[in-house]
Amino acid sequence: MRIGIGYDVHRLVEGRKLILGGVKIPYPKGLEGHSDADVLTHAICDALLGAAGERDLGEHFPDTDARYKEICSLELLKEVGGLLAGKGWTIENIDSVVVMETPKLNPFKQKIKEKICETLGLDSDRVNVKATTTEGLGYLGRSEAVASYAVCLLKKGDGFLF
Ligand SMILES: [Zn+2]
Repeated sequence: MRIGIGYDVHRLVEGRKLILGGVKIPYPKGLEGHSDADVLTHAICDALLGAAGERDLGEHFPDTDARYKEICSLELLKEVGGLLAGKGWTIENIDSVVVMETPKLNPFKQKIKEKICETLGLDSDRVNVKATTTEGLGYLGRSEAVASYAVCLLKKGDGFLF
């Protein structure tokens, strides 16, 4: 078994959609980035790549590559899932936290979880999505950015889940 950790931050700006875990969240601002800047999905990708010893998301999908401009990050997650499956890894579980002051993520957590499970071909009890704030402290507390953490456990063996 192998564990991995992922962390990501994107700036909240005007004129962008807010996409978290592949779900569009109604909010006047969105996350800035080369792709759709889905901070949660990026953290999950990095946790998965890390556990497999496969470097990081930026190396696999460089933000200088026009192919990834505005790309839906679930497509990147799907590729990461395929890469791991190809190397014989199965995903035991993924846990994650989104850190943001506003908007409240609670109404969207279930849908986000479903999207991630669907993308990776996992049963719904293998992925968990949590949300927290920083109680108004710092750049996250001022809603200048959204951060996300993820951890995962991979297993090598039979029964591919992808
Ligand atoms: Zn990112």
